Amino acid sequence: MSLAQSDQERHCMMNPLDHEEFRRQGHMIIDFIANYYRDIEKYPVRSQVEPGYLHKRIPENAPYNPEPIETILQDVQNHIVPGLTHWLSPYHFAYYPANASIAASLGEILCTGFNVDGFNWMASPAATELENIVMDWLGKMLELPESFLFSGNGGGVIQGTTGDAVLCTVIAARDQLLNRIGRENIVKLVVYGSDQTHCSLHKAAKIAGIHPNNVRSVKTTKSKAFALSPDSLRAAIISDKEAGLIPLYLCATVGTTSSGAVDPVGPLCDVAEDYGIWVHIDAAYAGSACICPEFRHFIDGVECANSFSFNPHKWLLTNLDCCCLWVKDPSALVNAFSTDSEYLKNTATDSKQVVDYKDWQVPLTRRFRAIKLWLVLRSYGVVNLRNYLRRHVEMAKHFEGLIAMDKRFEVVVPRNFSLVCFRISPSARVNGCSADDEESTANELNRKLLKSLNDSGLVCMTHAIVGGIYMIRFSIGQPLTDYRHIEMAWKVVQEYTDAMLGTYLK
Ligand code: PLP
Repeated sequence: MSLAQSDQERHCMMNPLDHEEFRRQGHMIIDFIANYYRDIEKYPVRSQVEPGYLHKRIPENAPYNPEPIETILQDVQNHIVPGLTHWLSPYHFAYYPANASIAASLGEILCTGFNVDGFNWMASPAATELENIVMDWLGKMLELPESFLFSGNGGGVIQGTTGDAVLCTVIAARDQLLNRIGRENIVKLVVYGSDQTHCSLHKAAKIAGIHPNNVRSVKTTKSKAFALSPDSLRAAIISDKEAGLIPLYLCATVGTTSSGAVDPVGPLCDVAEDYGIWVHIDAAYAGSACICPEFRHFIDGVECANSFSFNPHKWLLTNLDCCCLWVKDPSALVNAFSTDSEYLKNTATDSKQVVDYKDWQVPLTRRFRAIKLWLVLRSYGVVNLRNYLRRHVEMAKHFEGLIAMDKRFEVVVPRNFSLVCFRISPSARVNGCSADDEESTANELNRKLLKSLNDSGLVCMTHAIVGGIYMIRFSIGQPLTDYRHIEMAWKVVQEYTDAMLGTYLK
């Protein structure tokens, strides 16, 4: 290679972590996102693009030559933003919320900026120790019993999602039991939930090798507000035992996905205890609310469960992703997930004085999520977090009040938190044209209403079907949502209903 050539190559060498360039481009991105938040109300809430839209706008191959951030950001604005459903819009009432905040966004920047891979203590002591600390902080905020905290021989871990938490606990429970009764019994293991339990349980059971016929979805009813009945659970367990099967795991839910129903944790744990079943409490959405003393009763009985998880990334001002899982017996996780690779051996692990989180989860690699949660807890404090949650619950009550004033509508299930499930009632009588009393007609009407609402781009909501009833879920929980957005959303619902049914005469 000639001197001139090597000079040229050296010249072309890029520095992907040039600190001044990072500062310059970083400011541009922060400005971009700040403007996005400023302007968010002007975008259609649900993306209006057609499948495949982006292939028509983006080149088929990656660029050979580098492109400036200015051009890339322009393309984000022109091509990516139209394909976003704006989850942070104050008019996004779909699914359950996915929260973001200044504290968590900046925490993410710290996490990704340091980019440590804290799979064990040695790989980055601060990552592990801060996670131990914030999990105990949060556990205390939830008034979890000492037995779930590191200070009480239990402990908490931050995982990506509830799906991960359920999978890990099913596997921990499975191995704990099979180690006692013999691995050949795997075909007899049964897991339990209700017909309202999130599909994470089904996926976890599948991956954990539970026989597909051995996943019970115990039926719930409208008269019991779609909560899992301890008597029905016991009946299912007895029937399985009579058939020679072995009960393994119960997933009880506090705040079900469809309707926000709450399974009675304490009485279910009592049933599970009689049969030695591992109980996991999935409070993915509603767990956040339980940091408020007035909602804590929803998890009463948690002291008898084996594990508990919720997602701060849903409703606790923490950007995706962040699922907090506590277990009473960390050794059940460690026995199931630890590996013994020479290249990871170190004196800290040998000392048994440290937590190696790689043994509490499926992958090896892990992000420094604890720093994000730490920023959230410190920046807002328990007081502001509680008030934030309470305000959404108050907004939900306000929305229920608006529904009550229009006799065409009804609230379908009792509200527990900030999710209101409503529909055009089958008995609606409007300007001579009546909604047929048949439930199926009501279902069709509500389906049409929801489609027109989402097509409008003015609001975004989703649906669920419980007990054969199609209902519209109005899920409040985004940080920018205020009373005026609730009132405007209700006006939109009324206007689109007017258009469908004829004007309602007040
Ligand atoms: N469990 C419940 C009760 C949920 O509502 C949801 C999602 O909304 C999940 C589990 C799934 O959570 P994740 O996406 O974190 O796996």
